[in-house]
Amino acid sequence: MLIPIGISACVIGEKVRFDGGHKQNRFVTEELSEYFKFKPICPEVGIGLPSPRPAIRLLETNGKQRLVGSQDSDQDHTDKMVIFTDKQIPQLQEMCGYIVCAKSPTCGMERVKLYIENGNTVPGGTTGVYTRKLMEQMPWLPVEEDGRLQDPVLRENFVFRVFALNDLYQSIKGNLTRDAIVKFHSRYKLVLMAHNPSLYQTLGRLVATINEWELDEFFIAYRLQFMDAIKCRANIRTNTNVLMHMQGYFKQLLDKKQKAELADLIMNYRKGHLPLLAPLTLFEHYLQLHPNAYLQSQRYLNPYPKELRLRFSL
Ligand code: SF4
Repeated sequence: MLIPIGISACVIGEKVRFDGGHKQNRFVTEELSEYFKFKPICPEVGIGLPSPRPAIRLLETNGKQRLVGSQDSDQDHTDKMVIFTDKQIPQLQEMCGYIVCAKSPTCGMERVKLYIENGNTVPGGTTGVYTRKLMEQMPWLPVEEDGRLQDPVLRENFVFRVFALNDLYQSIKGNLTRDAIVKFHSRYKLVLMAHNPSLYQTLGRLVATINEWELDEFFIAYRLQFMDAIKCRANIRTNTNVLMHMQGYFKQLLDKKQKAELADLIMNYRKGHLPLLAPLTLFEHYLQLHPNAYLQSQRYLNPYPKELRLRFSL
């Protein structure tokens, strides 16, 4: 089943930009489309603007950010955009992620140019009007910009979060039970250790109190904290800790030579001489020889389809 995610329509190749063109991202159209079902949205077309159209920008006046014509700031589209966004977001609740177009005053996620009256820009910029509301109203949703998807680490983290949120929804589909959430959480223990050791502890304590909660409320709190935790990117240090933790399961099962080989791969990964895939592949091999239900259930070993090749450069 394809995973539903939202996307700025220009990023998927629709000619909706102010200049009549698009900003198609090939990773999206050629690789992610195998796994994701995209819902393309162009908020500027959504408020009735044509393509091509005069460029618009964000202007700060009297402490408020307005979406106005670049050449004519009396052309104010802010209110229409807010109405469009408020209507659109409730229809996105099933989405497991959102890819937005960088730099756009409407869709940009960060460092969007924010002008002030004298024509200068505010250092650091801001977030596009539509995406700001999206992130405020769905704070658990993985959101990423098309440009940032070129970075292998950011790309892996975004795609992983989309698969994880989809896994959460599938785990409780038509059956939101305490057992389903606890089982989901159990499958992500190593992932959480790698992504955010401190939130791993916090989430563990939260799950331990699940019987004291009204279940719907628990799910909302858990989803937010879980998605927040995996937003932190795993790094060599935290991945090494997880690998060493996994190594402990094989203490009694491997002979001296095999243990040395495994330890060597982990150390070489830690030193940056080998990718994460090297020790993980050996773990997979040892798990074939010595099955372990807990380790084999861990999403850490199998976070998304291998064909995406996202771990090659980690
Ligand atoms: S960045 Fe957003 S508003 Fe601009 S063309 Fe793309 S989808 Fe439309």
